[in-house]
Amino acid sequence: MRNPFRVAIITGIPGVGKTTVLQLVEEKAVEERMNIFIANYGTYMIETAAKEGIAKDRDELRKLKLRDQLELQRLAAENIIKDAFEKLGATGYLLVDTHSVVKTIVGYWPGLPEHVIDVFKPDLIVLIESTPELIHQRQIKDTTRKRSDFGGPQAIRELRDFARYSAVASAVLYGSAVAIVENPEGRPEAAASKIIELLQNI
Ligand code: ATP
Ligand code: AMP
Ligand code: MG
Repeated sequence: MRNPFRVAIITGIPGVGKTTVLQLVEEKAVEERMNIFIANYGTYMIETAAKEGIAKDRDELRKLKLRDQLELQRLAAENIIKDAFEKLGATGYLLVDTHSVVKTIVGYWPGLPEHVIDVFKPDLIVLIESTPELIHQRQIKDTTRKRSDFGGPQAIRELRDFARYSAVASAVLYGSAVAIVENPEGRPEAAASKIIELLQNI
């Protein structure tokens, strides 16, 4: 039913601040002497996609043919869990920076379908949230990424709803807990502290 180490899947709308918060989680985990490995799912997918010459940039992945995304998704899960076993051994925490739903050209597509959940067997699925207005502002301000396809606050609100439904649908497969963690404006460390607290209670 579970991997030897504890597994938390960290999700949230693009631009909500997952990667930012997880950098702070890593720092806090070191202070707390917790053995932790954080894997960014998109990074694993883009590495394979770049090698195959089908995408150059992580924001191109969700625009690829759905069958190609499926294969990249499958491979990423396999590679992350392999690295987690190497880095963690039998104890500690694997945190996966990813999405419960992906907005593709074909439609809302699960980031954590059964074939992915079967690999991670997560103890916990976290939804990092902020208001749709704040997420939209963060997307616009962050010029390092191409997130204009997510539209405005109304479209982000719809995506947030799908993200919640998708997280629960994934959670029932292995009995994972689902937690909403607020990422307050200007205080990502508050979200990081909350995640550390959740991890320590798994
Ligand atoms: P993606 O899913 O696209 O990778 P993400 O959820 O990982 O997005 P980040 O890249 O961490 O999002 O953050 C997006 C932008 O929001 C960045 O410019 C970051 O500095 C900013 N940001 C993150 N958290 C906060 C916060 N609490 N307050 C204000 N700005 C924030
Ligand atoms: P990110 O940097 O988290 O935005 O990830 C970059 C891209 O990777 C996303 O826009 C998706 O296209 C893809 N991705 C990340 N996680 C998943 C997942 N679990 N399933 C499918 N695609 C994913
Ligand atoms: Mg990110």
